[in-house]
Amino acid sequence: MKRTLSRTAAVFLACSLGCFSNAPAPAPLPPPEDPPKKDKFAEDRLPKTEFAVDGDRALQYVKDLCDIGPRISDTAGMRKQQELVTKHFEKFGATVTRQEFLAKQRSKNDKIAMTNLIASWYPDRKKRIIFCSHYDTRPAAHEEPERNWNKPFASANDGTSGVAILMELAHQMKDFPTGVGVDFVLFDGEEYILDPGVPYVREGDKYFLGSEFFASEYTKTKAKTGIKYEAGILLDLCGHDGARLAVEGYSWKFAPKLLTEVWKVAESVGAKSFKYERGFQRATEVLDDHLALNDAGIPSIDIIDFDYKHWHTLGDTPDKCSPKQMAEVGTVLLTWLKAQK
Ligand code: ZN
Repeated sequence: MKRTLSRTAAVFLACSLGCFSNAPAPAPLPPPEDPPKKDKFAEDRLPKTEFAVDGDRALQYVKDLCDIGPRISDTAGMRKQQELVTKHFEKFGATVTRQEFLAKQRSKNDKIAMTNLIASWYPDRKKRIIFCSHYDTRPAAHEEPERNWNKPFASANDGTSGVAILMELAHQMKDFPTGVGVDFVLFDGEEYILDPGVPYVREGDKYFLGSEFFASEYTKTKAKTGIKYEAGILLDLCGHDGARLAVEGYSWKFAPKLLTEVWKVAESVGAKSFKYERGFQRATEVLDDHLALNDAGIPSIDIIDFDYKHWHTLGDTPDKCSPKQMAEVGTVLLTWLKAQK
């Protein structure tokens, strides 16, 4: 994901950098309503202890992936990861599709090969949902204060914990009681960033190459295939100890129904890391892979802790991930999935 300032803060910062416009800042979005305490959806259909999501196993998957080393787009590490996760999802009955494409990054002269991986269950169902995460790792830990950018970056919680949660959920996907088809989508090129630019002065490399390609393919092919994605749930930076999953602004703006549904489910299963409130110190909106899905007409939300303190630093290692937290997120996803008709 890419951090962005709230619009109000961005206007303030732009002005402090020499802009003398006195245009008023856009009004902030209204905060989410409080979730209803008494809710039939939650009470009748979402029993608390139905799904046993194994957080220790999820953590082991984080370690297995990080043990490969960096998984940067179009490198041997990425190819090894693709082999590992493909075998894993196939073992649990998925059909795995490689969505391959070439992408040119702004700071590079040549195109490189990228691959989104799509693990599908119930391929005959036209009405489908997406659980997704990026699975590429950033070429360098650009938030390191010393600009120590050349050391291997594990990216354990950033992307990898999302992949690991999906690997854990795969154990339960065969014969899962839901009415919809399920696609786990792993996006490549979310952060193939070699030139990070200079914040608020000069734009650097482009993010979200994989999700934008996925979204454009969906738009091009949906009339022919008849597939309709009803919802997309993106996992990013949500598997660490002490995660605080407040409501992300674009999710609220573009998919308020889905967002409220998921946070209600979280409340019903006692998933305390989900906070039904806006807000975070630096921004309320985050640029991430869910934007491309929303642009393609798929209501999509981002489950993310904007304030993860090891974000893009060498400290983002598997020991920061928490079995309890990963199990909590996984339980919310399965409980929500069961309610889809
Ligand atoms: Zn990242």
